[in-house]
Amino acid sequence: MKDVRDRIVLVTGGASGIGFCTAEEFARAGATVILTDINAAALAEAAERLGRGGVTVHTRVVDVTDRAQVEETARWVLATFGRLDVLVNNAGIGYHGEMAETSLETWKKLIDVNLWGVLYHIHAFLPSMLERGRGHIVNVSSGQAFFRLPTWGAYAAIKAAAGAFSEVLGFEVRRRGVHVTTVYPFMVNTPFYRGVEGETLAAKLSMKLLPYYSMTPERVGRIIFEAVRDERRVEMVSPLNVLGFYAHLLPPVFAAMSEVAAFFLAKGPHRAAPAQGKE
Ligand code: NAD
Repeated sequence: MKDVRDRIVLVTGGASGIGFCTAEEFARAGATVILTDINAAALAEAAERLGRGGVTVHTRVVDVTDRAQVEETARWVLATFGRLDVLVNNAGIGYHGEMAETSLETWKKLIDVNLWGVLYHIHAFLPSMLERGRGHIVNVSSGQAFFRLPTWGAYAAIKAAAGAFSEVLGFEVRRRGVHVTTVYPFMVNTPFYRGVEGETLAAKLSMKLLPYYSMTPERVGRIIFEAVRDERRVEMVSPLNVLGFYAHLLPPVFAAMSEVAAFFLAKGPHRAAPAQGKE
């Protein structure tokens, strides 16, 4: 897809961060943009911000974990616009905490938003794309899919699943005219990290210093836009991800990286189970 003008683009989680900036890029390029988000107030504010730049966007409050809402949105999009050209599965939530203390409720919430949300959208929109023999799906995974850093394990595991699913899907539907781009952002300065404080000194410090070493959502929005325009299969976003990816080819390097991260980010020996007989 070389020209995105006249494209109908839907961005989930479009009220904030990467989603908002991606939507802004498409809107500026002349596409018709539909923003969905669970947060109605933020969605209205996002539409207003884009409106100030002379851009009109369509908005809809959608919880990506609600299958009925997603299917109803697909019916509305297809009835109103006749088709969807680009689906950006961006909505997502973060979670920081050690595996041993991650509750099943937290796992469920993460899987619901970060995996089922993507699947519901693909099942709702892909059939019409296959029928037309045209379309583009973007799935936003995370660099944690490669790094799997201690204290980010639950989030990383689910984003890795979403990434694997997305890459396989891409190979399966490409010959039928539908492109899939799997995006792996890493450390982007957005409200995603709101509430993530970290428990160790190093974890707290890494959050405090985030603005100085992270990427901006504007940059990532531009990268996603260009990946769709140029029909890229995988978008690594940050060179750090390439390091994380290739570290797996050298297991001792990957193990050393994980040990260092566990040393600095996990709570450490003061939380170890008491030695037998010493309770
Ligand atoms: P963000 O918090 O700024 O934006 C996420 C948006 O998703 C919010 O507007 C939120 O309201 C919406 N959302 C959350 N739950 C929802 C639900 N159930 N239904 C509909 N909308 C929902 O965060 P962001 O950094 O822009 O994150 C966007 C995507 O990028 C996420 O999938 C995230 O996992 C991924 N990501 C972010 C980073 C990062 O460093 N910020 C790194 C890698 C991947």
